[in-house]
Amino acid sequence: MSLLFRFARRFVAGESLDAAIGEVRRLNDAGLLVTLDFLGENVSNEGEAEAAAAEYVRMIEAINRFGLKANVSLKLTQMGLDLGDGFCQAQVERVVAKAADFSNFVRIDMEGTAYTDRTLDVFENVYRKMGNVGIVLQAYLHRTRKDLDRVVALKARVRLCKGAYAEPPTAAIQKMKDIRSNYTTLAEALFRSRTYPAIATHDEQLIRACARMAQEMGVGKEDFELQMLYGMRPARQLELAREGYRVRVYVPFGTAWLPYFYRRLRERKENIFFVVRNFFKS
Ligand SMILES: Cc1cc2nc3c(=O)[nH]c(=O)nc-3n(C[C@H](O)[C@H](O)[C@H](O)COP(=O)(O)OP(=O)(O)OC[C@H]3O[C@@H](n4cnc5c(N)ncnc54)[C@H](O)[C@@H]3O)c2cc1C
Repeated sequence: MSLLFRFARRFVAGESLDAAIGEVRRLNDAGLLVTLDFLGENVSNEGEAEAAAAEYVRMIEAINRFGLKANVSLKLTQMGLDLGDGFCQAQVERVVAKAADFSNFVRIDMEGTAYTDRTLDVFENVYRKMGNVGIVLQAYLHRTRKDLDRVVALKARVRLCKGAYAEPPTAAIQKMKDIRSNYTTLAEALFRSRTYPAIATHDEQLIRACARMAQEMGVGKEDFELQMLYGMRPARQLELAREGYRVRVYVPFGTAWLPYFYRRLRERKENIFFVVRNFFKS
C-alpha cells in the first residue's frame, strides 16, 4: 500500500468492491445506511466510461445479492460527460435501469460549475424516463435557488451540500456564514416540498438547525436523511442514528482516490492535521 493511500484510507473504504462491501456491512450492522461511490471522474475515452458503468451495475447487483441497505452515487464526468451528453446519458440509463430492477436508487453527484447545466439536463432526462434517480445541489452557488425550484417542480429527490469545488465569487458565495444562511433557506424549501431531502453536512450548526426546522415543520425523522462522508465524524453518525434519524454514509472506493482525497484535505484543517500527525507517527 502506498504511503499516501495509508492516509487516504481514512476517507476511502478500500480499492476493491469486496473491501467496500465489508465496510458497508459493518456500517449497516451499526444502524447506518450507505451510498456507495466508485471513485473516478473526467474519463477521457468511451471504454473507461463504459467500464465505470459496468462497475456500477456490479455494485447494484452485489447490494441486492448481499441484502445491503445501500444505494449508489455517481459522477457524470465518470460516465463520459466530456465525451458528449447523449453518450453519458446512455451510460447513466444503464445503471439506473439496473437499480430499477431491484427497486434501488441512484444519486447523481454535482461537480464543478463547468458541468452544472449539463448535469441538471442529463439528470432531468433520466428522471423523466425512469424516476429512481436524484440529484445533488450545492448551497454555495448563487444559482442554486433557481435550480432547486426546477428539481422540486419535478418532485425529484435532492441531496443538499455546501459544495466542494473551488469556485470564483461570481459563481459562489465565499463566506461560510453566508453559505450556512443560504443552506438553511434551501433546506427549508426542501422540507416544505416533502420530497425526502438529504441534508449532507458535518457542520454541527447546520445539523442542529435542520433537525429543529424539520421538527417545527412536522417533517418526521423517517421523511428525510442526514448524510455524512465515510471517515468524517463517525461517532456523531452513530449518535444521530441512535436518536432515530436516518443517517446515510457516503462510502467511496476504488483506485482513483486522489482528487477525492485532496478535496477532503482542502475542506478542513483538521483533516490535514490528521494526515501530518500520522505521517510523523509512521
Ligand atoms: C454525503 C455527502 C455527499 C456530498 N456530495 C457532494 C457533491 O455531490 N458535490 C459537492 O460539491 N460536494 C459534495 N459533498 C461535500 C460538501 O459539499 C462539502 O464540501 C463538505 O461536506 C464539507 O462541508 P460541511 O458542511 O460538511 O462542513 P465544513 O464546512 O467542512 O465544516 C464546518 C463545521 O462543521 C464542523 N465539523 C466538520 N467536520 C467535523 C469533524 N470531523 N469533527 C467535528 N466537527 C466537524 C465544524 O464545526 C466545522 O467548523 C458531499 C458531502 C456529503 C457529506
